[in-house]
Amino acid sequence: MCIAENINKIKNEISDDITLISVSKTRTIEELEEAYQAGARDFGENKVQEFTEKVEKFHSDVRWHLIGHLQRNKVKYIVGKVYLIHSLDNIKLLEEIEKKYAAKGQIANVLIQINIGRDPNKSGILEENLEELISACEKCSSVKVKGIMTVIPKGDEESCRKYFAKMKRIYDDLAKKQYSNVRMEYLSMGMTGDYKIAISEGANMVRIGEGIFGKRMYKNI
Ligand SMILES: *Cc1c(COP(=O)(O)O)cnc(C)c1O
Repeated sequence: MCIAENINKIKNEISDDITLISVSKTRTIEELEEAYQAGARDFGENKVQEFTEKVEKFHSDVRWHLIGHLQRNKVKYIVGKVYLIHSLDNIKLLEEIEKKYAAKGQIANVLIQINIGRDPNKSGILEENLEELISACEKCSSVKVKGIMTVIPKGDEESCRKYFAKMKRIYDDLAKKQYSNVRMEYLSMGMTGDYKIAISEGANMVRIGEGIFGKRMYKNI
């Protein structure tokens, strides 16, 4: 199947109020263009350098999502270019985002990434540290939290469901509280292998790479 067919198939499976992010990491501009022609406007990248290169070369009406781990020293390169940062997970990073965005008079829209599976090899904040990070967000003037994001551990359907449901519970709890800088609009979870499960557990934003573009080949260059 080609990229356009994959996109159309997924769009037919999911309802209109769910945002489909085409995860285009490692893909060429020609491949992104095929997705764009099929109607894709939300693209996800995980590396800052690859992301900034693509922003330069690609359509200006695209909404770029930074879905990978973000290092503090890279924040300065992304100001004004990202629609949504999915990977806020610590206070030091928050402070750097606040500083660099404020300096340019811009607002950073972010999701807090939660390490819901407590996997030591994954980024994301642990649940018990969430409150502290949110309090810090409340003190910011240039950061708006729009929701939460996770990458869950690999596992069977039951295990996926359990983690997605946990995320939905956190999302609903946060949505009930009154914050000035934190509003639950996006629950970003679900990838190629598990997006249907994620949606059935409440995701309204899914990030799909291989299901759209085919298997990723990591080249050594
Ligand atoms: C690569 C990636 C995806 C997409 O994964 P696929 O299995 O290709 O759909 C989603 N989210 C994050 C954070 C990623 O790094």
